[in-house]
Amino acid sequence: MKILKFGGTSVGTAQRIKNVAGLVTAEKGNIIVLSAMSGTTNQLLEIYDYVAKNNPTGASETLGRLSQKYAGVIDELFPDNNQWRASAVKEVEAAISGIRSEIASPTGEQTQKNIVSRGELMSTALMLNYILSLGKEAKMLPALDYMVIDMAGEPVANEISRRLNKLLSEVGDADVYITQGFICRNTDGLIDNLKRGGSDYTASLIGAALLADEIQIWTDIDGMHNNDPRFVEKTSPVRNLHFEEAAELAYFGAKILHPTCILPAKLANIPVRLLNTMEPAAEGTLINNSTPDHTIKAVAAKDNITAIKIKSSRMLLAYGFLSRVFEIFERYHTAIDMVVTSEVGVSVTIDNEQHLPEILAELKKLGTITVDSDMVIICVVGDLEWNNRGFEAAVVNALKDIPVRMISYGGSNYNISLLVRKTDKIKALSLLSEYLFS
Ligand code: ASP
Ligand code: MG
Repeated sequence: MKILKFGGTSVGTAQRIKNVAGLVTAEKGNIIVLSAMSGTTNQLLEIYDYVAKNNPTGASETLGRLSQKYAGVIDELFPDNNQWRASAVKEVEAAISGIRSEIASPTGEQTQKNIVSRGELMSTALMLNYILSLGKEAKMLPALDYMVIDMAGEPVANEISRRLNKLLSEVGDADVYITQGFICRNTDGLIDNLKRGGSDYTASLIGAALLADEIQIWTDIDGMHNNDPRFVEKTSPVRNLHFEEAAELAYFGAKILHPTCILPAKLANIPVRLLNTMEPAAEGTLINNSTPDHTIKAVAAKDNITAIKIKSSRMLLAYGFLSRVFEIFERYHTAIDMVVTSEVGVSVTIDNEQHLPEILAELKKLGTITVDSDMVIICVVGDLEWNNRGFEAAVVNALKDIPVRMISYGGSNYNISLLVRKTDKIKALSLLSEYLFS
């Protein structure tokens, strides 16, 4: 059994839904995980935003537009007045009227979760009925019946596996099973979600729960590229990545795969394949526990980085200094991405300036502070085991004409990170492509 996840763009129009339906019924017995149609989650969040700002009219008007859009999609998917059209209309109307009631009597944050869950409920209802209308047997596995999270918002793997296996045996054989990405229930049994972009995570959790043969993430690009195609010409897809390499890339900006998706698949050793809905026959990228192959695979960039240097002679020959520095970031719930130290100072980077003023005020008690904003982490990923010679030199040499604020290597065998100015980002990415891949 395979798990196939399709993101918002892959089901973004009636035509795309039809394409996906064709794709997923080619092989029997797989599970497909769907996001909401593209734009829907944002629109649902906007509806809640109006509710939170006490503007029910704004909420209703936005909902009206959303409802019209879905009516149009239904017309295209089901031109004939048959039972499948009736069922699709019924489900979409139930979702829309559910949102209408939420707008009428909101209950804070739960209202937002309830509203936003309707995006995936609608996309899956449309797909189910469309596949049924093709004469294929499709069955729904409602995510709200098996995807559960604990108090900390973390998925409960063994419970998910137990419920999902039970559900599958109850619904019996099918050409294809359909389920919602992103949405789940919390410990109070209320509707919750796995955070923005969480459908990839759903697919990975299901794959691990059922020990699937493969998890496929279908998007609209031919796999993970060796550089960012938005900024660099002539990038090419990477055919094979180790889980660790994929994790570094997903975290450092390659938008194609959500970082949370890697871990469940890696732990259960289930290969993840990135494929292209627009070009289903293309090879894509395979992510697994493959053996290292001594090459640099890809380059990615992470924006909106702030570097903070703390210089202090108190650090010289002392212990406990770093822990006092890190503890300040911990207190303000601010994650550190890069760390570089010398005997008299330490530089760290953060990607969230929300508590910067408070953090700086505290750090000033420890040393002299320098802050550089508008920076970018350039991340080079590959099999960079330290006994392999020449990689560091190649990377640094590629960037010899660009001012580099920090360099970090040795944290893992898979990555070298460099901090440069935002204004040098495209140049840095292009030079790395030129030196490393051509
Ligand atoms: N629909 C959700 C979002 O837009 C989840 C997902 O697409 O992965 O964030
Ligand atoms: Mg996504």
